[in-house]
Amino acid sequence: MAREIFIYEPMSAIDIGAHVFPTEKYARLASEIRALGVPEECFGAPEPTHPLDLERVHTRAYLADLREARATERTVPSELPVTPEVIEGFRRMVGGTVRAADLAWHQERWTMHLGGGFHHAFADHAEGFCYYNDVAIAIRSLQAEQGLGRVAVIDTDLHQGNGTAAIFQGDESVFTFSIHQENLYPLKQRSDLDIGLDPFVGDAEYLDRLEEALDQIFDEQSPEMIFSVAGADPFHDDQLGDLKLTFEGLKRRDELVIERAVASGIPGVVTLAGGYARRVEDTVRIHRQTAEVVWGTYER
Ligand SMILES: [Zn+2]
Repeated sequence: MAREIFIYEPMSAIDIGAHVFPTEKYARLASEIRALGVPEECFGAPEPTHPLDLERVHTRAYLADLREARATERTVPSELPVTPEVIEGFRRMVGGTVRAADLAWHQERWTMHLGGGFHHAFADHAEGFCYYNDVAIAIRSLQAEQGLGRVAVIDTDLHQGNGTAAIFQGDESVFTFSIHQENLYPLKQRSDLDIGLDPFVGDAEYLDRLEEALDQIFDEQSPEMIFSVAGADPFHDDQLGDLKLTFEGLKRRDELVIERAVASGIPGVVTLAGGYARRVEDTVRIHRQTAEVVWGTYER
């Protein structure tokens, strides 16, 4: 049985030039997780991404633009370079989330993709540093081919998971939940459950609101699997937001989601999503804390 817990692609340090999105965080995170004493056999590589998987979520016109790296009204809203190299990097990231989700579902445990979480990608266009909606692709792929039923997406990134909400609008098998700062990008879509927070909420209120939502999700929705979109950007020193969570608050966030799922026997996968702390090492530390919570589920 495969022992991989952390799926990582060394090529995911996509060069996007000078940008607020620090793609070097992926490699730094992988080395910090190794430094925790996680053995090499617990690291795995992404699967190749199949066109069919992409087509389960994205429109043909948009996929054609991406294939040709064409700057169109569908691709330019990514706010990323529209180049073959960058688009290919994001495509490889899809394979990481698919692989991590596959392992989690088949082996009934928690895994983590050291990448992914591109929740602003819509079926027919890019947005906000996101080309492919890797989480939606992994969900549809497992549902179509591996018998996965009801899913909950728990999106705790600073920003609303607008692309994910739109993709699963009207799909009863996927419960979308987003807790985010309200007065920020993006233009909001309707998730099944949205909590739009005021700036400066801090740890206590954030965690109270999150816990209430988790009660509802776990008690009423009975998901068979959780997809956690665990952005590092609710952090107090983030350049894009003002939710003002501490390192401890963010670790508690991850514990609330993952430990509750494990206690309920629900497998899941973590993706990283955003993180724009003034110091990249702080973003990496927040993601590493999430990895520690995942790793902790194996030490029982
Ligand atoms: Zn974000």
